[in-house]
Amino acid sequence: MYLYDQCRCLGSEPNIPEGRVLVIGIDGVRPDALRIADTPAIDELISEGAFTNNTKILGERYRENETISGPGWSSFLTGVWADKHGVNDNTFRGQNYDEYPHFFVYLKRAFPKAITGSFVDWEPIDTFILRDADVREVCPASSEDSLLQKDEKLANKAANFLTQQNPHAVFVYFGQVDEIGHQDGFHPSVPSYLQALQTVDAHVASLVQAIQLRPEYLEENWLIVISTDHGGRGRKHRGGHDVPEIVTTFLVVSGVQSKKGVIEEPSYIVDVPIIALTHLGVPIDSAWQLDGKAVGIR
Ligand SMILES: [Zn+2]
Repeated sequence: MYLYDQCRCLGSEPNIPEGRVLVIGIDGVRPDALRIADTPAIDELISEGAFTNNTKILGERYRENETISGPGWSSFLTGVWADKHGVNDNTFRGQNYDEYPHFFVYLKRAFPKAITGSFVDWEPIDTFILRDADVREVCPASSEDSLLQKDEKLANKAANFLTQQNPHAVFVYFGQVDEIGHQDGFHPSVPSYLQALQTVDAHVASLVQAIQLRPEYLEENWLIVISTDHGGRGRKHRGGHDVPEIVTTFLVVSGVQSKKGVIEEPSYIVDVPIIALTHLGVPIDSAWQLDGKAVGIR
């Protein structure tokens, strides 16, 4: 232990992660709509990083959970499929986050001084999954704001946090794309669906700018990861196990340490936490039984 501590001191400061991560979750995005929508901020992250439009929201071992947000964001944030995290629908009954926690927990165990932040406007993510982030901002379901307004408020709060505080891992969730999909249709031919994506892209731009405004930005080794919990067909995404438009989605991994170009290997939403932890310098312990792997980073 003594030797280990000394070694760490010679290199970098102990108890501080090696990099920083911003994970953005945009609910209900179809990759074909993302390709058509005018999204310059996401396009720039793709051009500077690794990208695939062939990421799966379900694995091969277990496919019993509903193709909806409860299981989707649980897999996305814990790195394990629903037979382990236990969430099969939006009731969150059966949740087993004590055994399979979200990735901030592993980060804090490895680096107790790391600072984490969660900004979400789908309340169950805050209530159930990311309940022990250091900083939590949530727009409650009881709020009279539309999801459009909630997304904007969250983006502003997250941007201030990113610039003014000292975070190492941040999750920001935007809900309006899914809401418009349910209302008008999940399809690249639906103008309001594309518009929602474009509005969220402007929020992504403000988050990227907020990071770049940090005085030590160039030394901080930021990685930005963006994906979603499911796509959609018609006005729904439930029961989409064999529907490509629902189970197939996108993944962006962008930063100085990301690979460049198309991610060719199979990728899944459970990869997101492993990408983040690997970038942060947290050794992945096989005892955690994570289902994902690090894709898109060097
Ligand atoms: Zn939905």
